[in-house]
Amino acid sequence: MGDCIFCKIISGHLPAHKVYEDEKILAFLDINPVNPGHTLVVPKRHFESMIDADDGTLSELTRIAKRLGGAMMKGLDAQGFNLGVNNGAAAGQVVFHVHYHLIPRMHSDNLQPWGKRTYGAGEAERVAAVIREKLALL
Ligand code: 5GP
Ligand code: ZN
Repeated sequence: MGDCIFCKIISGHLPAHKVYEDEKILAFLDINPVNPGHTLVVPKRHFESMIDADDGTLSELTRIAKRLGGAMMKGLDAQGFNLGVNNGAAAGQVVFHVHYHLIPRMHSDNLQPWGKRTYGAGEAERVAAVIREKLALL
């Protein structure tokens, strides 16, 4: 936690453009936004990713993200917003303090969606079965 950049923002040792704060949650503008208004919603307690965070914290993050999304649509003329979380380096996580990305979206922004693929024969059945099996153990 010592070198965590988001903990430093939360403690006030680094500056940020804050948009929301309560006892448990802080939201501030991403320094390199996908679109203007791109906001990071973070718990004040340090957890590396969603896997480590408790369900109560995640539900608070989601509740605040919903409110912020509404504020973006009203205040920034956004027609929608994306909510995303990178969990783990393989998923693109760079800052290992769990955070929700909230990105205002406009019809005109021309952002490219994720690429899509198709399943091979029997692959979807196998993949779904593995997830169901592991889920039952968690
Ligand atoms: P990740 O890839 O870990 O999901 O996203 C980390 C995000 O944090 C990136 O979008 C990056 O632009 C943002 N970020 C990194 N350092 C800082 C900082 O010092 N201040 C702010 N406001 N955002 C940061
Ligand atoms: Zn942290």
